[in-house]
Amino acid sequence: MAENSKSKNDEYFMRQAIKEARKAEALDEVPIGAVLVHDGKILARGHNLREKKQSSLAHAEIVTIEKACRKIGSWRLEDCVLYVTLEPCPMCAGAILQSRIAKVVYGAADPKGGSVGTCFNLYDIPGFNHYPEVLGGVLSEDCAMLLKTFFKQKRMKKNAQKEQKSTASSNPGQACQDAKK
Ligand SMILES: [Zn+2]
Repeated sequence: MAENSKSKNDEYFMRQAIKEARKAEALDEVPIGAVLVHDGKILARGHNLREKKQSSLAHAEIVTIEKACRKIGSWRLEDCVLYVTLEPCPMCAGAILQSRIAKVVYGAADPKGGSVGTCFNLYDIPGFNHYPEVLGGVLSEDCAMLLKTFFKQKRMKKNAQKEQKSTASSNPGQACQDAKK
């Protein structure tokens, strides 16, 4: 029973993280979102802003952690749970550890850099003074679908542009060849 209500809670907060991911998508950013929860309440929300900020640091997790720290005036985010739609990368897994976040819950696993279990698990390495708990796979299909759809649309746009370019340039190219004759 307790397990059930717990997972319902996890799904609720993951849906909030998905909402954030959709905000990123609307900005033509890779759709990844996060929320930080303390005592059952959302302390901060954030989404990927790498393109807008032109910063490799502006991942959803970092954006959310920064907002939360500003809000409470402390870098310590003990007793907080971070929900993020995609498994954290090495940088974000490190930031989660450094912030003393108690638990990280992610949606989709990331075979291209997931650092809390998929490519490797940062928290398996001994010697740190804090180890966040990890729960993966919450609403993973919804989270993964956001990314799949985004990249599919990107590819389609790119191909359409390529096609346009090749038809637009075929005539001037012909003109050029004609001029050489
Ligand atoms: Zn990251």
